[in-house]
This record gives sequence, structure tokens and C-alpha cells, in this order.
Amino acid sequence: MPEPKIYIIGAGLTGLTIAYLLQKKGIHAQLLEANSRIGGRIETISGESGVTIEMGATWFSQQHPSLLALLDELELPYFKQHTSGISLFETMSFVPPQKFEIPETEAVSYRLEGGSMKLINTLVAKIGLENLKKDSKVIALKLVNNQIEITTEKGEIFIADKVISTLPPHLLVQTITFDPKLPESLLQLAKKTHTWMGESIKFAVEYPTAFWKENNFSGTIFSQASIIQEMYDHSSSDHTKFALKGFLNGGTNTLSKDERKEKVIRQLIRFFGAEANNYTAYYEKVWRDEPLTFLPYEKLVMAHQNNGHAMYKNIFFEDKLYLSGSETATQNPGYMDGAINAAQSIASQF
Ligand SMILES: Cc1cc2nc3c(=O)[nH]c(=O)nc-3n(C[C@H](O)[C@H](O)[C@H](O)COP(=O)(O)OP(=O)(O)OC[C@H]3O[C@@H](n4cnc5c(N)ncnc54)[C@H](O)[C@@H]3O)c2cc1C
Repeated sequence: MPEPKIYIIGAGLTGLTIAYLLQKKGIHAQLLEANSRIGGRIETISGESGVTIEMGATWFSQQHPSLLALLDELELPYFKQHTSGISLFETMSFVPPQKFEIPETEAVSYRLEGGSMKLINTLVAKIGLENLKKDSKVIALKLVNNQIEITTEKGEIFIADKVISTLPPHLLVQTITFDPKLPESLLQLAKKTHTWMGESIKFAVEYPTAFWKENNFSGTIFSQASIIQEMYDHSSSDHTKFALKGFLNGGTNTLSKDERKEKVIRQLIRFFGAEANNYTAYYEKVWRDEPLTFLPYEKLVMAHQNNGHAMYKNIFFEDKLYLSGSETATQNPGYMDGAINAAQSIASQF
């Protein structure tokens, strides 16, 4: 009997982990990725000093067992997020921020040595680049003669025995047409399934020194009043390259990059003093402008709403179409750990 043809849609952490787990079972799968880059919501860029800057997923903890086990298996080291020193919390813009220290007993967060893309690149190296097709946006799935016909935006057609989607469910039902149609109950559910961090704006500021640490600040700030809502030290683990990184108020997506940057630097000067103006470079990523991650919801959807819903465990198109992706996971949906959990759940069915 010829090997069944398995296609995985999306080369983010879920898609790559499924391909890797299937490969370990001796099963071959082909990945189709719409973007010209791989990794999806994982994207590490390099600053001018070579400092790694996470534009997407960054942190994990002991509460993320599937991810920790995979990192151990792939021998990828990780390190503790720096939090010691004075942290700042701003409630109102006209009142100076309150100072506090994060207790040593607080649960530890980790970052991957060399950046989260290390995990993506390691999986790609295991799977083999020849099994991954970039710039291949899937736009239609059709059940024909007991197989699934996959059509891409460029007009390519692939014939599959099994298809595994790893798109966030909300994105899946907005971008791919299905023949026959998916059940109405699934369409309605997917439209109300939140895509974790899809609305977020990540920023980083690179510096020649970690002047905040020298002044006994941790680099951690929280604000309910200014553009930077949450920020952490983002320096390299060997303390030789320096940056601050965090999340901006999502409502500032209507501003230009320069306008956001100006507000960010002004806030950093207000919190840490004039030295904050001596930055090397400013970086940002507005995830709500990334149509391969986020499309607007019809109605307000709450964070993690419908994540891990039981309906995502069903198999569609006469037992040939599987739904996966972090948002379908039953453990830590939305997170990297969820992506691996979702991948394990699919791989266990083959
Ligand atoms: C800003 C931000 C910060 C985050 N921080 C953390 C964190 O600190 N810790 C944590 O654990 N998690 C975090 N996450 C979540 C984490 O990134 C995700 O859980 C994980 O990366 C999801 O992987 P995935 O493969 O399921 O989905 P995705 O990464 O979204 O992958 C889906 C893939 O499908 C591709 N695609 C889309 N449409 C099509 C199409 N039509 N045809 C073919 N391919 C298509 C996309 O380009 C993408 O590569 C963060 C996410 C963001 C955006």
C-alpha cells in the first residue's frame, strides 16, 4: 500500500512539532506555510549588537511541562528571566510610579537561550527543509474522491489523504473555503475562539549598557496610564548585550511607529532618567496588522475564550481533516506549551 499523503497547514510551533513527532513514528508529512518566513507567532530578531529580541512568544515556566520536555529532548538550554532590583508600577500618569521588589519566592519565568526561534530552527533541521513549502497560502479544501484537494493562493493543487490545520480556528474559518461546508456549530465556535496575543503590540529598545540595572532597577514596569503597559529586562543571558522589551497599549495601533517610539522613549526617561534617551535602536511589531495571525472579530471575544473546546477534537471531511494549533489544546491553550500539547494529541492519532 502506498504511504498516505499527509499535509500540515501552517509552519508555526504546532505544525513543526506535528511533523517532527510523525517523523519519529516513521510517518512523512508535508508542510504548507503561507508566509515567506516560518515560526508563526514565534519570531526572534537580532538587534544591532546581536542581542536576540523576541517579537512573539518569549516566556515559559514549570507550569509548561510539554514544552520543557521537548526542550530537554532537543537539548535546548534556557535561562531565568531577570527580575531582581526595583520594579515600577504606575497607576496614574500624574503620580510617580510606585516602587516594589518581586519576591525571590515568585514563580520563575524562563527564556530560551539564543531566542525562541532556536526551537523553530531545530525542529526544521530535524524535519528537513524539503518537507516545508513557504509562500503557499491555502485558500480552499475540497473533498474529492475520498481525498482532499488543497488549493493555494498561487493556484497550486495538492492531493492529500489527510490534512491537519494548525491555523488559529478564528483565522481558519475566515481564510479557507470548505467544500463540503464545515458544520455551522463549528463555524460559530471558531468565530468566537480567541487567538492568544493576536491584538498585541510588542516593542523593544536596545541599549549599549544596562544602565537600569546599574541604577538598581530590574527593568520590570507595569503601567495602567502610559503607552508601555508591561516591560522586562531583555538582555542576553551572559549580560553582554542589552535591551528592554514589553507590550504597548493595544489602542496605540492607530499611531505611526514614530509616534509610538516617541511616547515609549519619553516614558522610559520619566521612569529611569535621561540615560534612557541613549538608545541604540527601537523595534516593534503590531500583531493585529498580521493577517496570517489576526483578523478582526465580529463581536468582542475575551482572552482565551473557547480555547481548548471539545469540538476541536472532532475529525471532519469523513475523518480526513484534523484541527490543531495552540488554541485547540486542552493544556495551556494559546501558549507554546499548548502548541506542543495540541501537536502530541494529533500525532497520537496516527
Ligand atoms: C506577541 C506574542 C507574544 C506571545 N508570548 C508568549 C509567551 O511569552 N509564552 C508563550 O508560551 N506563548 C506566547 N505567545 C503565544 C505563542 O506564540 C503561540 O501559542 C504559538 O506560537 C502558537 O503556535 P501555532 O503553531 O499553534 O500557531 P501560529 O504560530 O499562529 O502558526 C500558524 C501558522 O500558520 C500560517 N498560516 C496562516 N494562514 C495560513 C494559510 N491560509 N495557509 C498556510 N499557512 C497559513 C501562519 O503564517 C503561521 O506560520 C505569544 C504570541 C504572541 C503573538
